Amino acid sequence: MSPRILLLGGTTEALRLARRLGPESIYSLAGLGRVPDDLPCQVRVGGFGGAEGLAAFIREQGIELLLDMTHPYAAQISANAAQAAALSGVACWALRRPGWQAGEGDDWREVDDWSGLVAALHNFRRPFFTLGREPLEHLHEIPPHQYWTVRCLTAQEAVPRAEIIGARGPFALDEERALFARLGTDVLISKNSGSQSTEPKLQVARELGLPVLLLRRPELPAVDREFLQPDALWEALERRLV
Ligand code: NAP
Repeated sequence: MSPRILLLGGTTEALRLARRLGPESIYSLAGLGRVPDDLPCQVRVGGFGGAEGLAAFIREQGIELLLDMTHPYAAQISANAAQAAALSGVACWALRRPGWQAGEGDDWREVDDWSGLVAALHNFRRPFFTLGREPLEHLHEIPPHQYWTVRCLTAQEAVPRAEIIGARGPFALDEERALFARLGTDVLISKNSGSQSTEPKLQVARELGLPVLLLRRPELPAVDREFLQPDALWEALERRLV
């Protein structure tokens, strides 16, 4: 008998795993991105109402195992998952995808938050933001000497000194090279997601000798089992399924 699993998703790895779950299990999304309609498991969309709400859902649905495969910067839902698992007495397993590591020729600088980022950007003119929607809230604060490019999931009209590109990975190396050239990028800004699908931009920055400002990873809670690779999680799951 397969355990009834609640899979908290929103990442490529989570979607891949959801394709292998049976109809007794549930794939959960916050609802910010695309909702797949071709999965063998059930799909639900939207928040639970904090850790208490998630714990209630786990109990009501008779969930036996909670899987946290959310984005490494989605700290709130990961904290809720650990707390809800403890409240409802089910195990929580998590994929904790390792971050990218700087190599030869990389000039990576870590920043703590938005204000640290703004300070670190001061001497640049053509920053390329690839860390989600946060820069969109600051378009009215663009310093006179800067022109911003913001790439996030959904496009939005350009403003006088910024271009907003709507795009979803994976991104091909050649296309990233062409984009950096067109934009005249002099600094790249990113989260350290560790995702292969968005890694080519780092290679382009390395080739061009550009600095990369990385937003520091949030602390994530300890859970019953943590996996660095999705395959290891799947193997552990298969052993449990038998
Ligand atoms: P979050 O701040 O950890 O979550 C906020 C709330 O959204 C949670 O408290 C929960 O609401 C709900 N939620 C999140 N994931 C859910 C899921 N799988 N199923 C049901 N509800 C869910 O996370 P976030 O708002 O998703 O993202 C935070 C950061 O991570 C952002 O910076 C974002 O850019 C990044 N992120 C990136 C990707 C990506 O693929 N690049 C994907 C996701 C997030 P309730 O408390 O009501 O349950």
